[in-house]
Formats: sequence, structure tokens, C-alpha cells
Amino acid sequence: MEELAIFGGTPVREKKIFYGRQCIEQDDIDAVVNTLKSDLITCGPQVEALEKMLCEITGAKYAVVVANGTAALHLAALAAGLGEGDEVIVSSITFAASSNCVLYCGAKPVFADIKPDTYNIDPASVRKLITPKTKGIIAVDFTGQAVEHDELEAICRENNLFFIEDAAHAIGTKYKGRPVGSIADMTCFSFHPVKTVTGGEGGAITTNDEQLYRRLMRVRTHGITRHQEEMVHPTDALWYNEQVELGYNYRMTDFQAALLHSQLNKLDKFSARRKEIVKKYDEVFSEMPEIFVQREIPESDTTRHLYILRLNLDKLTCDRRQFFDALYAENTCPQVHYLPVYWHSYYEKLGYEKGLCPNAEKYYEEVMSIPLYYSLTDDEVEDVIHAVKKVVAYYRR
Ligand SMILES: *Cc1c(COP(=O)(O)O)cnc(C)c1O
Repeated sequence: MEELAIFGGTPVREKKIFYGRQCIEQDDIDAVVNTLKSDLITCGPQVEALEKMLCEITGAKYAVVVANGTAALHLAALAAGLGEGDEVIVSSITFAASSNCVLYCGAKPVFADIKPDTYNIDPASVRKLITPKTKGIIAVDFTGQAVEHDELEAICRENNLFFIEDAAHAIGTKYKGRPVGSIADMTCFSFHPVKTVTGGEGGAITTNDEQLYRRLMRVRTHGITRHQEEMVHPTDALWYNEQVELGYNYRMTDFQAALLHSQLNKLDKFSARRKEIVKKYDEVFSEMPEIFVQREIPESDTTRHLYILRLNLDKLTCDRRQFFDALYAENTCPQVHYLPVYWHSYYEKLGYEKGLCPNAEKYYEEVMSIPLYYSLTDDEVEDVIHAVKKVVAYYRR
């Protein structure tokens, strides 16, 4: 048996690779530089072009581009009309921003459990949490896999709830042939560098509802409008604009928009390569009793953002921590996605207790994300597989 690097053996890779990274090519750089030489460098023609492109890709009627995914979620929660006394049902295994946006509005997140095999929000758990105070659902397309839209939409219809989809992982994913972004009341995207396409930072909200769209456009820029029909004191004076509600500055620069536009041109190629790597990992790991492979629902055609390696701890002598550290020392560096949101000490202070979502808590103890990104080479994929096999062999029960 090979000696693990963590115990002094030679690591599988000489240089570290991480779970995700961006791919920036010369045409991306040119797009940014050209925009920097233009007249408008924030919220100008590049942002408009990007919004048009996002509508084309997602099939949504409207897109509002913002500074980052967290801003997108905040504005969506605001446009949904959330306030004090309201409850919103949120995925428990997600980045904290999915739930923080509810707190920003003074409302209360209520955490739903995940399905044990898809890791997405469980509609049965959502149903059990509905109270007269429930106003909506915020569900994340975890790892890029679409949530169970039909079931969640039925729950929303029956209970008159809004549905915000956190699609930070899921640009390029389709549900029953429909692109994510055209299905929920509002869909939020993130374009952080680890996501499938990036603007350095960036986010967007898509919707088919014109009223929501107008509101989102307004609160993106301080709550200020230039549309007379939205004003309390309408005038056609050219200089006049009016703040009609409290908003923020969540604008994206035009050079970020240019970068993102250039990246979105490559979405198909990025997506295809991610699928290829996922297929390779799935083929190998589904043969190993020490590892569980994420189940994919047939309705989702997934552009995968994360690859989750889930340990079958009954078959191993180590725990997740030991496995993680060993894999890290092989220089095929994993990360963990995510701590159940309500386990964060901030949420603990708000009064959330352990035990709320048993599937989520068990999931958290058994997982890590292994490298998955467009520019990962075949050799690197083989190294990751080699490293996983090496660690499994060492700790096999
Ligand atoms: C990345 C991410 C966000 C936040 O996006 P930022 O652009 O980093 O603000 C929100 N939700 C999920 C699930 C994410 O992965």
C-alpha cells in the first residue's frame, strides 16, 4: 500500500489544486480592457447587453444585474415584500447568504431538511413547516442540480407563497428542458470566481413579472426612479429623479459586465467539460462501496458546480476530518459545502438549535467537495481519483 502523504509519503500531486477556480482567457481580458477605454464604466451598455444575454440564456422576460449573488438575494427578498413577522422556508444545506437575505428584511428563516440522496430541499419537509406566517420559499439548486420544481410550485400555489430560487450554482441547468431562471418567481445567480462563469464578483435576478422587475431595478439604485409613472411628483424635467423608497447601491461595473458577457459566450463549453468530469468521477466512485454518489433526478439536466464526495463511514476506519486532511495532504485539496446554516454560531445566538434537520446534519459529517472546474486537465482528474483511492485503501475497514 502507498504511504499517505500526511504520514510522510509522497503526495499524488507536487502542486496543490483546489476544488474550484476560474478560467480567464485572452478574449475575456480584451473585453475588460476595451470597456475600460469606453465612455461609461458602470451600469452602462455592457450591463444592458448582459441583461439581454441572461434573458436569452434563461428564457426569462427580465434580468437585473447586480454587484454579487448576495445582493441579488437581498433585493429579491425585498421585492417579495418580506418584513417583520414573516417566515420564509430555506434550504438547510446552502451558503449562509440564502438565509441571511431573510434576516436583512427583518423576517425569520425556517430551515427545511434535505433529501438524503439528492441533497436538495425535501418538499415533504417544506410542507411540515408551513404556518400562517409563512410567506415564501428560498430553495437552492445545490451543486447545480435543479430543485424539485413541480412539487415546490404546487406547495406555493396551495399556500399562496412566493418562490425564490437560489441558482448561484446552477447557471446552465435545465429542469424538464426549461432553463433555470425562467421557472421560479425570482431566480438569483452568483458570478463569484468559483462559480461556472465569473465577473470577478457579480449577481443577477431573473423574473417574468414586470412589477417585480421594476421594483428590482429601482432598489438596485437607492430606490430612485426616472420613470414619471413611478413618481409621486412627476415632471418631465430632464434632471429630475425621485427616491420613492429605500434602496441600495448594488450596481455592477461595465467592465465586470463585459467580462461576464464574454464568459457566458463559453457557457456551453464550460458546461460540457464539467459534465464530462462528473461522469468520469461518477463512473469510478459508484464502483466503490466506501463512497456514495449523489443521485440526480431525471428532470434535471445539470451543469454541476460542485462534486460531492460522500463517505460511507461504515466502510472506513476514519472520520471525515481524517479523510479530508489526508486528501488535502495529497495536494488534491477538498473543501466542505456546507455547514447546516443554523449551525453557524450567529444562528445559534438567534436561538436555532441542533437537531432541526437530521438528514442535513448527517450529510455534513460525511462530505467534502473535490476539484471540479473547466480547466481541470484529464491528468489532474486522474490524480484526484488516484488520491481518493489511495486514502480509501488506507482507511478501508
Ligand atoms: C456563492 C453563493 C451565494 C452568494 O453569492 P456571492 O456572489 O458570493 O455573493 C449565495 N448562495 C449560494 C448557494 C452560493 O453558492
